[in-house]
Amino acid sequence: MSDHQMIIGGKPQPASDHLDVENPATGDVAGRMPMGTRANLDAAVDAARTAFPGWAAAPDADRKAACHAIAAKIEEDGDALASLITSEQGKPLNGLGSRFEVGGCVGWAHATAELDLPVEVVQDDDQGRIEVHRKPVGVVGSITPWNWPVLIAVWHILPAVRAGNTVVIKPSPYTPLSTLRLVALMNEVLPAGVVNAVTGPDELGGAMSEHSGIDKIVFTGSIATGKKVMASAAGTLKRLTLELGGNDAGIVLPDADPKAIAEGLFWGAFINTGQTCGAMKRLYVHDSIHDAVCDALVEIAGRMPMGNGLSEENVLGPLSNKMQFDKVAGLVDDAKRNGGKILLGGDPKGGAGYFYPITFVSNVADGTRLVDEEQFGPVLPIIRYSDVDQIVAIANQNPHGLGGSVWSSDSAAAKKIAQRLECGSVWVNKHGAIQPNAPFGGVKSSGIGVEFGPEGLKEYTTIQTVFC
Ligand code: NAD
Repeated sequence: MSDHQMIIGGKPQPASDHLDVENPATGDVAGRMPMGTRANLDAAVDAARTAFPGWAAAPDADRKAACHAIAAKIEEDGDALASLITSEQGKPLNGLGSRFEVGGCVGWAHATAELDLPVEVVQDDDQGRIEVHRKPVGVVGSITPWNWPVLIAVWHILPAVRAGNTVVIKPSPYTPLSTLRLVALMNEVLPAGVVNAVTGPDELGGAMSEHSGIDKIVFTGSIATGKKVMASAAGTLKRLTLELGGNDAGIVLPDADPKAIAEGLFWGAFINTGQTCGAMKRLYVHDSIHDAVCDALVEIAGRMPMGNGLSEENVLGPLSNKMQFDKVAGLVDDAKRNGGKILLGGDPKGGAGYFYPITFVSNVADGTRLVDEEQFGPVLPIIRYSDVDQIVAIANQNPHGLGGSVWSSDSAAAKKIAQRLECGSVWVNKHGAIQPNAPFGGVKSSGIGVEFGPEGLKEYTTIQTVFC
């Protein structure tokens, strides 16, 4: 089995130790992760610092062209990259799986290439001229999770380099291989040192957050780790973008048509087998159509094959690792003990791979862990309600604030209710849609800052106000 290597200063960097990366569908070894050290991290930061002045001063058109060239490289390598994602992360090649992830990378890279940072003129009169310029921050440290490893890496790296920064990325130890391949591809078109990759244990992430040579951290991951990043970044006053966990509510109003909305609800909850930050994780359904919505969801779930993602027929895969499998199983068991009624699933079959069946749990409410916490798996609690105002207030009591949706035959009425939800994105009759031209980020505990579009690009800059 060929080893993947870290990339530092434009060159592959061998490691003396490696850790096996497990294929979550089979338990086989998907590849070996280089165990990077603190010395490797320091070398990567040095390489990024050395490359920074040249890259920041490069003509804007060159950086734009480089981002388009990265998109083309990813597209050329699409099949290999998708297979690697499936092998280490588990999501199917097919459906909303790894080919979809790679396609998203290509689209996002092209769209980010086309973003600009024009000088803003805030005053130009006989009193003088005031311009607001955007400058790159410096060296950006990117720390990524395991659920959409390559797409999230693109979301971090592309705006950083587009704005003139250089980067050191550290992927999750569960899914490091596809990121190493991605960074190797980027290094075919970028000057040495502009994008560097180190892999290794979680501690390397902590070392990045406090590293004096890193100017900004962009972190996507859990709320608990996000708090640690923020605390350890304080010593060097780093700029931060934190994209953290979600526990998105979906609210179905009494006038919704259960059969018409069921497929949207299903994929809103179960994209990537539920392992998506902006997936629906609690579903509130009006009493008058509660049973019809449950029946429609159960019927759809029966038609969605789950299995090894390398087989084309599957559209759902395993949980990505044992930690996540145990967490999901524990939350379902807790709900059962507290009166939850299993409408489907809840009974993993055992055997190879971390497969947990699509599971719907009714007869639960806020106050149950499955409703209150982010389950991040193929399990949806369905909560019956009778008063819309009351359920909006209850949904808003949750400390998460990433996304939310309202489902109804009256889109205008649904939009008004959606806007009362305390979260960074809301959707009407759909859930989880994102686009490269629309800012995305969490409020409350779900994060600080946004990604995508001009607002996302500006997160990779500092302001210089020029009075002239
Ligand atoms: P995690 O917090 O366990 O790990 C994320 C990354 O942080 C990994 O690379 C890990 O190695 C690193 N890390 C661990 N300890 C660290 C420390 N002390 N300092 C710095 N880095 C450290 O998260 P995960 O389990 O990989 O990902 C799942 C979580 O990510 C979910 O909560 C999900 O909602 C969230 N997520 C959020 C978004 C978003 O855009 N808001 C997107 C995807 C995932």
